[in-house]
Amino acid sequence: MIVTVREHEDPTRVKDELQGRGLWVQSLRAGARTFFIVEAHSQAVDPADLEEIPGVETVAVGASGHPRIDAQPAVVQIGKVAVGPGAAPVVIAGPCSVESELQVLDIARALPSQGVRFLRGGAYKPRSSPYAFQGHGARALRWLRDAADRFGLQVVTEATGAEEVPAVAEVADLIQVGSRSMHAAALLKTIGRTGKPVLLKRGMSATVEEWLLAGECLLLHGASAVVFCERGLRSYDPSTRNLLDLGAVALLAHVHHLPVIVDPSHAAGRRDLILPLAHAGLAAGACGVMVETHPHPAAALSDGPQALPMSWLSQLHGSHPVPEAAHG
Ligand code: PEP
Ligand code: MN
Repeated sequence: MIVTVREHEDPTRVKDELQGRGLWVQSLRAGARTFFIVEAHSQAVDPADLEEIPGVETVAVGASGHPRIDAQPAVVQIGKVAVGPGAAPVVIAGPCSVESELQVLDIARALPSQGVRFLRGGAYKPRSSPYAFQGHGARALRWLRDAADRFGLQVVTEATGAEEVPAVAEVADLIQVGSRSMHAAALLKTIGRTGKPVLLKRGMSATVEEWLLAGECLLLHGASAVVFCERGLRSYDPSTRNLLDLGAVALLAHVHHLPVIVDPSHAAGRRDLILPLAHAGLAAGACGVMVETHPHPAAALSDGPQALPMSWLSQLHGSHPVPEAAHG
């Protein structure tokens, strides 16, 4: 942002005013004129407020690469549920993979009483190994929708390829774009064209700007809304599966005023850290959490070590510690 000082005005008064608002400024002189460059990272500020400062002539803002995302309301409607700051925090829960009709029914049945309104589950699984369980595909989508309808839940599920999008769009209230797909522009366009809301997981090594631009691509091609999901970044340290970037969560929530949720399951990769990270995400400004759960975590076909026993789900809303008896 560049602030131009009026001719014959005292630039130090303008500078004091900018700095008094917590802004980090650099002075530039050209002939008799003074300009202040307001560093983007110092603090969020509304340019209209700076224009009101006595002595300021203009405030020039660099063009944003994601105007549709910038204009998206902070609170968006997903099916029957409002998601965003001010609305009640949402919990999205379900298995990593939809394993059977009975499994999703058992899970869906337990969710409403635990305050969960969204059922998640992968029908098409983006597994790192081509030999790992790849999901039950179209029939799993039917099981998910039927289970959700029986218990009044919204469905969140992922499309991993363009050919899956029509079937996924038919059952999903919120279409998930997985971390591995965030950069897949052709898939984003196809998903955007469904006109559905999208849960956009951050690529595991994507910058925040790349993440916002992927959201822009979805809105440009017709998505009705984008909810961002921070799921942890690839880091140098294998102690946790990924590194949950709470700074990015705070930035999206408090500076960009966007709906953002955290996925502590894929971030931690181990169940004993999921509740504390979920609470940390909400404290940083997330408007919801997405977690993996399983009736028998030890028997899960994918991501068992990070599956929460279903009895733990109600604690996502509170700040209770993990119960001792449930460790392991
Ligand atoms: C998932 O949520 O099912 C998933 C595969 O997560 P991610 O894309 O973040 O790895
Ligand atoms: Mn998983």
